[in-house]
Amino acid sequence: SPLIGVLALQGDVREHLAALTGAGARVTAVRRPEELAEVEGLVIPGGESTTISKLAHAFGLLEPLRARVRSGMPAYGSCAGMIMLADKILDPRSGQETVGGIDMIVRRNAFGRQNESFEAAVAMAGVPGGPVDGVFIRAPWVESTGALAETLAVHRGHPVAVRQDHLLATAFHPELTGDHRVHALFADMVRTAR
Ligand code: GLN
Repeated sequence: SPLIGVLALQGDVREHLAALTGAGARVTAVRRPEELAEVEGLVIPGGESTTISKLAHAFGLLEPLRARVRSGMPAYGSCAGMIMLADKILDPRSGQETVGGIDMIVRRNAFGRQNESFEAAVAMAGVPGGPVDGVFIRAPWVESTGALAETLAVHRGHPVAVRQDHLLATAFHPELTGDHRVHALFADMVRTAR
């Protein structure tokens, strides 16, 4: 099975490692460029995208991440990770950079303060067996997508799961539910890219 890394700078790293293991992948934490070079796919976890962005820069990982994504390494981002895979943030904090790769504009904390956290059933294309339990925690939504980005799920009128070729992003956190179907979809993408 493929070796999939989880970017381990900040966020819910352990939960993604467990979900990937549950989906049958081999896993490893990625903090250094040498570790990134060894993985066949990468998950960027949920957490705080401004912090992940700053730490990726400080650890010398931002350019290596961009290079690997450009050259076809499959990547999956949940929540803050979705923001990291967006080509553009509508309302970035100053200095906040993304890895990019998905032709979309995201709005941070879009679902609103009074609804900082909620769960909703989300039907997601490419995930068989019925809706997933979407856990939204100060989640972004996708404001707009370009021609190459395919919307896989919509909630309250906004895309919340998007795929572009080898890249996958969800505004919600399947890693917190014990349901490994989204991670299984990603592990399949990694196997296909081999
Ligand atoms: N609001 C966070 C951000 O903008 C994302 C929250 C999350 O990952 N649960 O980075």
